[in-house]
Amino acid sequence: MAIQLQAHAFAANPMRSNRPQSISPSSAHETLKSLLADPPDDVSNLKVKVLSFKNGKPLATSLESTSGSPPRWHLGWTPPSDFKGFSADSFVFLGEESETVYWAIDVSGDAGTAAKGAGGDGFCFVELRTLMVATDWADAGAMGELAIAGHARGLLEWHNTTRYCGYCGSNTIPIDAGRRKQCTKETCKKRIYPRVDPVVIMLVIDKANDRALLSRQFRFVPRMWSCLAGFVEPGESLEEAVRRETWEETGIEVGEVVYHSSQPWPVGPSSMPCQLMVGFHAYAKTFEIHVDKAELEDAQWHNREDVKKALTFAEYEKAQRTSAIKVNQMCKGVEKGQNFSSDFNVESGELAPMFIPGPFAIAHHLISSWVYQDDAEPMKQLNSSNL
Ligand SMILES: [Zn+2]
Repeated sequence: MAIQLQAHAFAANPMRSNRPQSISPSSAHETLKSLLADPPDDVSNLKVKVLSFKNGKPLATSLESTSGSPPRWHLGWTPPSDFKGFSADSFVFLGEESETVYWAIDVSGDAGTAAKGAGGDGFCFVELRTLMVATDWADAGAMGELAIAGHARGLLEWHNTTRYCGYCGSNTIPIDAGRRKQCTKETCKKRIYPRVDPVVIMLVIDKANDRALLSRQFRFVPRMWSCLAGFVEPGESLEEAVRRETWEETGIEVGEVVYHSSQPWPVGPSSMPCQLMVGFHAYAKTFEIHVDKAELEDAQWHNREDVKKALTFAEYEKAQRTSAIKVNQMCKGVEKGQNFSSDFNVESGELAPMFIPGPFAIAHHLISSWVYQDDAEPMKQLNSSNL
């Protein structure tokens, strides 16, 4: 059975819905300023909450479950008074929900001190990838928190990489509650807007022989196979990018290219935290593989039954449970180590000679929708946001 999600991981952020917001970012910014200047004694009913990040990791906490299900992580929201010495301009507006305003801040530098996450207080800065694996994909609330963390991380990293104006090299300052930036040089004053980097990701299919092309990148953990992917270059369409990347990496010519769905991907390399994965099924016209060894470790045709086995044997739920327990231990201060490959290794299943990335990745859905031949369904589902 295919794992069907209501929306891809990191999509369907509940703070990004289309309904009008009752509080404008600028008035929220004024409120934040006065709260920082004159923190109230009682913050229990305060309708302003802050999510802090350290080195790209959001502050999280974790609650034990009473029903035997794994512990559930939550974002570590704290009041503005927890951020001594930070200016209001360091905060980035995330949105508003039920009259509560949410902000994010990067506390990696020495601009001030943050109260939580130093250890032993039930809070911990956790890699977003670890939280992603630890998220129960059937829990819409948990998926919503993951999406908020992904949005915040993308925005904060964008702030980090746009400290200087790309036109004249002068300093930039945040404006509009951190949702834009502007060059400080009088004669330039260029405005800079957050952007995403589109990445095409494609399952290349040999229709006649009922098999699909899976590949291994050098950084993959052992036995993991996935789709081809690559950045879109200036002057090409998405379909052209699919054909060019497939040709460059495997020597295979692609004909028809069919859109599947797309996924925000804030857990790419730290230099590229705002990727948008745009997923396709791509139908091969030629079948002889010539792997570009500079780009890929390997690429091979796999028949449908083998890929189905890889999906069936994979222990995605066990991986989710293991990661959720790990986050809980980290928040208790019991476990400190964070190892990416162990996060992913656990889902491989002991019997499977190969495995496919988990349901948090668009690659999983590109592959499983081909395996289970329900091409139309996931696209409809994944594009509808009803959270
Ligand atoms: Zn400038």
